[in-house]
Amino acid sequence: MLWNEVQGQERAILEIEGLIKREVMPPLIFYGPEGVGKRKTALILAKALNCSDCGCDRCPSCRQAEKMMHPDLVILESKDSIKVDSIRELIKQAHLKPLYKKRVYIIDDASALTSEASSCLLKTLEEPPLYCVFILITSSLSAIFSTIRSRCLPIRFRRQTKEMQREILVGVGVDKGKIDDLIRFSGGSLSLAMEYKRYNLSLQKEKIEGWFAKFKVKNAIDLAEDLLSAEKTFPQILDFAIFYLEQEIVLNLERIEALLEAKEHLLLNANRRLVFENMCFKFLSWQEVYGGL
Ligand SMILES: [Zn+2]
Repeated sequence: MLWNEVQGQERAILEIEGLIKREVMPPLIFYGPEGVGKRKTALILAKALNCSDCGCDRCPSCRQAEKMMHPDLVILESKDSIKVDSIRELIKQAHLKPLYKKRVYIIDDASALTSEASSCLLKTLEEPPLYCVFILITSSLSAIFSTIRSRCLPIRFRRQTKEMQREILVGVGVDKGKIDDLIRFSGGSLSLAMEYKRYNLSLQKEKIEGWFAKFKVKNAIDLAEDLLSAEKTFPQILDFAIFYLEQEIVLNLERIEALLEAKEHLLLNANRRLVFENMCFKFLSWQEVYGGL
């Protein structure tokens, strides 16, 4: 069954399974810490609602949802801001009939809704078209306008304890000796741990040490050029580098900040060359102040 893909959220899933049986599903808010499976659950719910077998993973609808090409699944996402125009467009579409069973709208992150966008969404949330399901995602329930909150059913996603994470990771075949490193690298996010489990962590460590060694002998432009041509795993490699620098956090605070900033810019699709150059310049100037890495 599809729900096995979400780990450690049994209570939330039990609630959701109860709701699927209803003819009309209220608008939902999935809230809880980053990386605990909120978005994954929303996608599985979208799949389950449009499948005649509650998510078989084989029918055309399930396969389209898996490829993120489902005609009735709309994801509105932004870390920055979701503006009123996007909501107006959403409302216009919400009155179209679905091709399968339900049109599912996922808003991630709902705290990015501007106040105008939130007001525009209110009436639709209050009386959603019969075949529409709204799922709002947020890490902080209080960051969502109270008028929106009061029209949705909140479903809480919990942070999995380290012990739970260990159990889950053993369950998906991660070598017991690698688990503690994997949890540390992922900063407590099980979603990241699931993503990073395919990396060889000691290889990443070697790569990062090589990376930092170059900072001692090259200038920023050459370094940026090297990184640009050699490194295909940005921005994930930045998480590994941050973990590495955190071993001596006081000494490396500014460097960590430079990496976090670079990661943020890469995720916003900024020009990679400029991001790398900027990051390398910052690294080199701090090296002059604080000495080697
Ligand atoms: Zn199916």
